[in-house]
Amino acid sequence: MPSLPCPNQPVSPPTQLCRFWKGLAFFNYRRFIMWFSSHVIVSTTASFCLARGAYASLIIGRSDIYAIFANAKWSANTTVSYPGSECFNASTERWSVFDPPTFSAAISPATERDVVKAVKLATRHSIPFLATGGRHGYTTTLEALRDGLAIDLSQFNTVSIDKSAAAMTIGGAVRFRDIYDPVFEAGFEIQTGTCSCPGMVGVTLGGGVGPWGGVHGLIIDALLSLRVVTASGLVVEVSNTSNPDLFWAFRGAGANFGIVISATYQLQRQVNGGQILTADFIITADRIGPYFDLLDTYNNGNLPKLLSITSIMSYNATADVPQISATWAYLGPEDEGLKAFAPIFALNPIVTGVQTFPWNKVIEGVAGGADAFNCLNGAEHSVYDVNGRKISGDTYKMVFDKLSVFYEQNPDGRESLVQIDLFPNQAMLATPDDATAYPWRDTIALHDIEFILDPGNTTLKDVTNSLALQLRSDIVATSGYPDLATYINSAHGDETLEQKYGAEKVPRLIALKKIWDPKSVFSFNNAIPTEYERHF
Ligand SMILES: Cc1cc2nc3c(=O)[nH]c(=O)nc-3n(C[C@H](O)[C@H](O)[C@H](O)COP(=O)(O)OP(=O)(O)OC[C@H]3O[C@@H](n4cnc5c(N)ncnc54)[C@H](O)[C@@H]3O)c2cc1C
Repeated sequence: MPSLPCPNQPVSPPTQLCRFWKGLAFFNYRRFIMWFSSHVIVSTTASFCLARGAYASLIIGRSDIYAIFANAKWSANTTVSYPGSECFNASTERWSVFDPPTFSAAISPATERDVVKAVKLATRHSIPFLATGGRHGYTTTLEALRDGLAIDLSQFNTVSIDKSAAAMTIGGAVRFRDIYDPVFEAGFEIQTGTCSCPGMVGVTLGGGVGPWGGVHGLIIDALLSLRVVTASGLVVEVSNTSNPDLFWAFRGAGANFGIVISATYQLQRQVNGGQILTADFIITADRIGPYFDLLDTYNNGNLPKLLSITSIMSYNATADVPQISATWAYLGPEDEGLKAFAPIFALNPIVTGVQTFPWNKVIEGVAGGADAFNCLNGAEHSVYDVNGRKISGDTYKMVFDKLSVFYEQNPDGRESLVQIDLFPNQAMLATPDDATAYPWRDTIALHDIEFILDPGNTTLKDVTNSLALQLRSDIVATSGYPDLATYINSAHGDETLEQKYGAEKVPRLIALKKIWDPKSVFSFNNAIPTEYERHF
């Protein structure tokens, strides 16, 4: 029996610090205090949250949505909430509030039947809606959803492991942090992202990139099947043998095709007994050129399949200088790992930690526990993403210089950063490109340009937008792709369909959209249209 959603709403947990490797360098005291107070306040007030439309009297919002959802019969643990209530806040709070969707009501269904009913009611009454898992989606297309219905899946939070089949089934809103211990304790591991807080299904729907792509592939490569509520309110099994076309589409463009109630994954045998060697570095301005030259050497298939490298250009508020913080991780024996790390040690960077973590602790532990800080909800993150099949040290130097000028001129923008993830892709390439909708299996470098502002700071918006576009085109120019290639789960939202979904995949996605969602009810996350209009 699922528990009531509101008392258990996941807010940023105090003991869990995310993007591995982001945080330390730009620790911000003011945001820490905001995090602390919001955690304490939400944790205590949420326990007053009641089930089944208890906040009906607090309604603000569209009266039609209120009438339809408050008067419908729901199962006992399903909650319907409205703006002005803690329950609503807890059911709709997001990691980023940059161009977010707005809702007039939130339903937290406790049963699959209630998800079906919510979808049918919403579509019958033309109420726009969004299913939410971990609520870490930050694409700006979500902003087109105004005064809609949030279908908060947080009650679908179970993790179950079938040891003999080496398989795991999770609910549609399970976050990465919920699976670490059960998977590890059962003797397995699985490909994941680099933070503990995003919804695993939400990440999977876009492909699921991460540091273990060299040995395990994308997260979709572990996906065995999905249980889905479709646009017409049907519940279908989706796998290689059941609705295989839809399974193809879900693996890379999933947010467009239905609501996932549960997902089943193949678990992987532990590599190196599940032990991962990590090293954290600070690279000061004088060593930045050689560091980027070093990254350049990982072109042409030279990135070992067990090595992942994350480098973040950020502003060090304590030392008052721009810098790079880097985390290198090796999913293999320590002696081999130290050899793989030798080129960076040779640059004499500041070493802030060298540690071996078990697989279930690495994300939350590495980079001094930066995960917790990177998982904080509520800031404005304006993100632009570029995939690369080439690494360019010279471009990175230029980006660093431009970012440094921005920091110098805009102290309020100093939490902003550019993150470069060099993730090996040997196992990603083992799956044929046409097997899934995900289009960028040859990517080895992910670049996130991320401007982070406090909510309400509008003065820097123009500056940051213009710099972001400039940096994006700088990186595209040496990315090895003929045009911008964007990871859909990190898309800003202004890219063309082909830049997000890949020109080769777009026609088939559109044909499937026409079959499975002809009225485009799943249309707020970088919508695939039902008719093809070539954008280039
Ligand atoms: C801190 C941070 C770290 C990240 N790290 C990584 C990483 O390492 N690797 C990576 O690949 N990506 C990463 N991402 C990007 C991530 O893949 C996307 O933000 C993803 O959309 C988050 O999913 P969610 O369920 O948390 O978000 P939500 O905002 O809840 O959902 C995002 C989209 O997915 C849909 N969705 C979510 N769950 C379901 C469901 N059960 N059924 C149907 N639709 C659903 C929603 O409708 C929405 O369109 C990261 C993001 C953040 C903020």
